[in-house]
Amino acid sequence: MSRTRPSPSEADPDTRAGFRALPSVASLLADPELRLAADLDETHLAVAVNEALRRERAAVGRGATPTREEVIARIRTHVAKVGKPRLGPLINATGILIHTNLGRAPVSPAAAVAMAAAAANPVALEIDPATNRRGGRMDEIAGLVRLLTGAEATLIVNNNAAAVFLVLSAVAAGREVVLSRGEAVEIGGGFRIPDILRQSGATLVEVGTTNRTYPADYAAAIGDGTAALLKVHPSNFAVTGFVRETTVAELAEVGRARGIPVIDDQGSGALLDASRFGLGREPTIADSVAAGAALVTASGDKLLGGPQAGLIVGQAAWVEAVARHPLARAVRADKTCLAGLATTLRHYVRGEAAEQVPVWRMVSAEPDEIRSRGERLVAHLSQRAPRAGGRVVPTEATTGGGSLPGQTLPSFAIALDPGDGDAPDRLAERLRTGDPGVFGRVESDRVLLDLRSVLPEDDDRLVAAVASALATV
Ligand SMILES: *Cc1c(COP(=O)(O)O)cnc(C)c1O
Repeated sequence: MSRTRPSPSEADPDTRAGFRALPSVASLLADPELRLAADLDETHLAVAVNEALRRERAAVGRGATPTREEVIARIRTHVAKVGKPRLGPLINATGILIHTNLGRAPVSPAAAVAMAAAAANPVALEIDPATNRRGGRMDEIAGLVRLLTGAEATLIVNNNAAAVFLVLSAVAAGREVVLSRGEAVEIGGGFRIPDILRQSGATLVEVGTTNRTYPADYAAAIGDGTAALLKVHPSNFAVTGFVRETTVAELAEVGRARGIPVIDDQGSGALLDASRFGLGREPTIADSVAAGAALVTASGDKLLGGPQAGLIVGQAAWVEAVARHPLARAVRADKTCLAGLATTLRHYVRGEAAEQVPVWRMVSAEPDEIRSRGERLVAHLSQRAPRAGGRVVPTEATTGGGSLPGQTLPSFAIALDPGDGDAPDRLAERLRTGDPGVFGRVESDRVLLDLRSVLPEDDDRLVAAVASALATV
């Protein structure tokens, strides 16, 4: 067996000195500052310290010559990080309203309360309290979705990727699925429709061209092996110009004549018409259902504004067939998700979504309102951090999260100039790692904090976080 790292005894003198400089586990465990930094008990502190020391030893073995102080500082940082919660709340000032890397849509306060209560308590998840009989996991949500979209039945799963995979597995395994070449897309994070199709056991039959696909292209591709016609919303890009897209209604007509169901991966989960708020018309779930799709899939945490979930809605016989597939159990949603989703859907049936669902509050905010918030924040900031020099500048925000590609919403940002001896990237980093963390973007040597993606109730926390990041150069 070959050894890649020298042991202390056979290493050169510098490396030997490096090993000697490493503190002992016992001395580290006795270090009061280290114990204070880590929110860990005795046993797990020792594990974390050993882990960090192993890394230090490996670095010395590769020729590094850190001082004892450097090593101790790094180990303190390491154990502090292990003990520190990573998923604390932060402020999204990127101007991307649905930011996948920041956890997508924040849910409404009422939905958050419902999720916390469901998490901490038993709930009647699969039991009818009136009869004490089993069943009903989807009853409440299916009733709400029916009111909102006209869909006969609903199944909620872990996310939309799971929804698409489950639907294709249940409907099309071992058979063919017809899809436009313009819709054989990658949604993001490696989620490629052709790959998902293959994984589900279906065979992809591509029709048309990347920019033009006609109903007749689908009709010509239908044969004995055809299981479904698939439509996929090209979430994160827009094709413009010489384009002909076959609509869900046209597909349903083609399918009806041959007894083939249409599956529509609608994506965004929009239940409100975005054009009410000056955006383009994003198809809603109700549009797909009305157009005759047998099955519609969508995300819960994009324009719907709920928790992470995948919605499978449509005709009862098809949804039931999907629910019976063995994979359904593997991708099912938990009680916390269902409680949050039900509360979110109730905002829509009450007609209060634009006022209660955070994503729609952000979308519907008036630019003037955003500008005056910015001016108020800059005034507060100049009191708390006189060298801040923030200014309010116009920006363009986007909905993000695979919805309304290419469209922007007029917005305003606070532009922060880093002072002398500071740099925009360093200021942005201090903001991200502050408490609460603030995520903005760096543009022309300034840090921009876009206020359309920040809810007004977070304004005070934003000022405090910025003032402290500016104070700690
Ligand atoms: C976002 C999206 C997906 C993936 O949904 P997740 O909820 O991220 O799993 C699939 N299809 C379309 C059209 C989408 O927009």
